[in-house]
Amino acid sequence: MTEQRDRLLRGLPAVHVMMDDERIQRASAGANPAIVRDVIRECLDAARARILSDSLDQQPALVEQIIHQLDLLLGSRPTSVINGTGVIVQTNLGRAPVSASAAQEMAKAAASYVALETDLESGQRGGRGHEVEALLRALTGAERALVVNNNAAAVMLVLASLSAGRGVIVSRGEAVEIGGGFRVPDVLRQSGARLVEVGTTNRTYARDYSEAIDDDTAAILRVHASNFEIIGFTARPELDDLVALCRERNVLLIEDVGSGCLLDTRPFGLAHEPTLGESIRAGVDIVCASGDKLLGGPQAGIILGRAAVVDQVARHPLARALRADKTCLAGLAATLRHYIRDEATDEIPVWWAISRTPEWLERRARRWSQALGDCAEVVRTDAVVGGGSLPGKLLPSFGIAISAGSLNVQQLAQRLRIGDQPVVPRVVDERLIIDARTVLADQEEALIDALRAALTI
Ligand SMILES: *Cc1c(COP(=O)(O)O)cnc(C)c1O
Repeated sequence: MTEQRDRLLRGLPAVHVMMDDERIQRASAGANPAIVRDVIRECLDAARARILSDSLDQQPALVEQIIHQLDLLLGSRPTSVINGTGVIVQTNLGRAPVSASAAQEMAKAAASYVALETDLESGQRGGRGHEVEALLRALTGAERALVVNNNAAAVMLVLASLSAGRGVIVSRGEAVEIGGGFRVPDVLRQSGARLVEVGTTNRTYARDYSEAIDDDTAAILRVHASNFEIIGFTARPELDDLVALCRERNVLLIEDVGSGCLLDTRPFGLAHEPTLGESIRAGVDIVCASGDKLLGGPQAGIILGRAAVVDQVARHPLARALRADKTCLAGLAATLRHYIRDEATDEIPVWWAISRTPEWLERRARRWSQALGDCAEVVRTDAVVGGGSLPGKLLPSFGIAISAGSLNVQQLAQRLRIGDQPVVPRVVDERLIIDARTVLADQEEALIDALRAALTI
């Protein structure tokens, strides 16, 4: 054992030998030599540590390790990924891709000076995000809008500015966790508000809220359960009833609708998803939502509502800490314009994917299978909206099941993920599937090339 260890340790190359390695030289062309040396040293240290621990077998190849690290630093890996999972708002793949024009506007805003806080006509200082506010007002009827970093920030800021030190009433069925660290009770406590839970997990009535309101109550918080569904023996008050109750008792109604939906989902065969406009029209004081879920824009937190209330939120010191940057505001404005022009299903990738018909998807999958020959077979699949909206609602779809004689499903999936154009497939019943619904309109050729490369045809 010790002998083998010594031999392995002695076998580790010197740093300068690795510096001269032809493959490493190619991978590090143009890079600062001091940084390349550090990378090599770090990889050698890691290799040494692995030898000294017990894992003597399974040594990853040193040169590959170094090249992998260099690729990471030099940006030689592609950033775009083809989503074959059938999950439209795929959180692990960056949620909503923005439209071509939103991407363009974001790039332009990033690389240029922009009239962010200047009114060009008067030359005076103007408010940040006036344009986005005008768009959101036109689309939802809200009196005022404020954009922050993401929806978690929006909810935190709203609670901190409107209810710190006071009680906020939440149904037990809505004191939920929305993935990765967003737990309603924790956010509420962190904002300085006091959580008052009412009702039960499956049934909460307007009278439960009513009985809990006292002099110390700042607001009722209604949260869209987003990523799960309670079915069967359930009850939840209508939004109108909560609005009436809050008005009568003089407390605020705050709603976290999650997905930021602006269109009716029902014509696409989906269940109803609450829209921002519905909440505003119902009379909710403040509505919070994400920019990069069903809205289909960049990461953002959208706060809409009554002017006096949104102004109070905007004045809180946290508003500055959580504010959106110029690229976000530019991308969000370009995204919202697609709704103003009634072209969301053509231009916004999330809505383009939702609105494809099964017949269209079947034809698409058939084209792919013809291009790939025996390795690909057209299959019926189920896609989902994802991103914490419309849980459990399936969108009938089509895709291709691919197979490579010698490789098992896991090996082939990995080969697709690490190719020059990474493809993330879905594995169902030991079959590897590329769902036609989530491959973007302009990715078809790249997908076929990537599949051919992985299948070596
Ligand atoms: C997704 C979601 C959040 C978190 O939004 P981020 O934009 O990811 O910060 C909060 N509340 C609800 C109801 C959600 O669906």
